[in-house]
Amino acid sequence: MEPRVGFGYDLHRLVAGRRLVLGGLEIPYAKGLAGHSDGDCLIHAIIDALLGALGQGDIGQLFPDKDPEYKDVSSLRLLREVVAKVRALGFEISNLDSVVVAERPRLQPYFPEMKRILGRVLGLKSGELSLKAKTNEGVGPVGKGQALACWVVVAVGKKAKAGRKKA
Ligand code: MG
Repeated sequence: MEPRVGFGYDLHRLVAGRRLVLGGLEIPYAKGLAGHSDGDCLIHAIIDALLGALGQGDIGQLFPDKDPEYKDVSSLRLLREVVAKVRALGFEISNLDSVVVAERPRLQPYFPEMKRILGRVLGLKSGELSLKAKTNEGVGPVGKGQALACWVVVAVGKKAKAGRKKA
C-alpha cells in the first residue's frame, strides 16, 4: 500500500429558512446551513479531504458554486462522484476522522445514522469512520450559533502494482 493523507475544512452560516442537512442526514432544527448546494458542511470537508489526498484540487474547482447544475444539489451526490474518482485512480479509502463544531443543535444523537449513510458511500465500516462533536465554548461566530464548522482527515491507500517486487 502507498498511503496518502488528505485534510478538509469547511464552514457554513446557520440561517433561518433552510433545512439543516449534515452528513447526508436531515436534522430537525430552526436553522439550516446556507449554501449554493444543500450546504452540507461535513460532506464538503470530506470531499476536500479526499481531493487533497489525491492532489486533485478542491470542491470549488470540481463543482463551481456559480453552476446552476449544483443549485440545491444533494452533497451526497457530489460525494458519490468524488468516491468514484478515488476508485478510478486506483485508491481505496482506509479511514476517516472528523470534528464537527457546533454550539447547537446537539449532534451526537444523529451520528449513528450519519455513519450509516456516509459509510455506505465511502465503503467504510463503523470503526473506520469517526465523527466527533464539539462546541466552541460560546466563542466567535460558531460559538454564537451563527455558523457550523467541520474538520476532516482521511487516509487512502493504493495497492502496489502487480509484478512490482518488494525491495
Ligand atoms: Mg461548503
